Amino acid sequence: MSTYQVSLLPGDGIGPEVTEATKSVLDATGINFDWEYCDAGLNALEKHGELLPEATLDSIRKNGIGLKGPITTPIGEGFRSVNVGLRHALELYVNLRPGKTIKGVQSTFEDIDLIVVRENMEDIYAGVEFDTGTPEAAEVIEAINAKSQKKIASDAAISIKMITPEGSRRIVRFAFAYARQNNRKLVTAVHKANIMKFSDGLFLQVAQEVAQEYPDIEFNDRIVDNMCMQLMQKPEQYDVMVMPNLYGDIVSDMVAGMVGGLGVAPGGNIGKDAAVFEPIHGSAPTHAGKNVANPVAMLLSGAMMLRHLGERDAAERVEGAVAKVIGEGTQVTYDLRADRDQSKAASTTEMANAIIAAM
Ligand code: NAD
Repeated sequence: MSTYQVSLLPGDGIGPEVTEATKSVLDATGINFDWEYCDAGLNALEKHGELLPEATLDSIRKNGIGLKGPITTPIGEGFRSVNVGLRHALELYVNLRPGKTIKGVQSTFEDIDLIVVRENMEDIYAGVEFDTGTPEAAEVIEAINAKSQKKIASDAAISIKMITPEGSRRIVRFAFAYARQNNRKLVTAVHKANIMKFSDGLFLQVAQEVAQEYPDIEFNDRIVDNMCMQLMQKPEQYDVMVMPNLYGDIVSDMVAGMVGGLGVAPGGNIGKDAAVFEPIHGSAPTHAGKNVANPVAMLLSGAMMLRHLGERDAAERVEGAVAKVIGEGTQVTYDLRADRDQSKAASTTEMANAIIAAM
């Protein structure tokens, strides 16, 4: 049996605890992993003087696959989010976020099975920004006002929204290919092309073109506000949704909320040459070092990684064991208990061990 070399980024806060729990479950699947530990976040800042060392990026480039815990973004001048830095440095243009109901997790909705495919590199999140009152902003405003009928106020702060045909094509193609591979029936493009006729209009036009390449998959589109309302009213009518960065950020959190929140929401950042899987939640600093954090989001991210590696059977065993332990409801962390009683809850390690026993 082959061994997978995986870059493992425990991160900080609760990251190292949920990472160790996940590692123990993934090792128990019988698949051979050679884990390459990499620093990122506060531990990297202390050791190497930078949040995202080049050695960490090199490890992921070499292995082509990474599993990452959450990382705190320090508050202060000059700190860019490590998560955004990582996605840009490795061109991980897909953010894949499934939202699937797990019986036993408290949530308002039942039987949800949705996939959000979020574009990860472009849109208003690309980082092209000019602060209010700066000479750079003044120059940009002057140049735009010379060309545009609508005028921008001289003291405006500016963030540029940019959408390219190539960026749109590759993300929509990913969504259709994912739908085909995973026996999904429908892809919905989400946009606001009625208002942003050029940027979102381009995204929609490209999505319509790409849909022609996949006649076996149904296609429709929704304006983002209507999409949110429809997800609240008739989520069963939707399947795979693909959208630009900002809408994807918001809609994917909404879908995570529909299935019970951050503790159970996994994600993957995928590019042409590398993929990094990580939970959606942050480093939850108040819980750090207490062995109380819920390992499920990270574990399900690990299962997504197994699927990405083609280890579907092992992925299903992990997901099945997670569902079983949550369904039984005794060996679960405090946040999965109705009473949220810490004294009756399982620790992170105890829950991971129960999951291993259930595999
Ligand atoms: P958070 O996700 O860390 O916490 C939000 C709430 O959820 C808190 O009440 C927390 O205790 C709880 N929570 C989160 N994960 C949990 C788990 N596994 N088990 C039990 N409870 C859990 O979000 P935040 O407080 O906004 O952010 C904290 C830090 O994390 C910030 O520095 C932020 O920048 C960073 N962050 C990192 C990532 C990432 O690395 N991908 C994502 C989001 C936030």
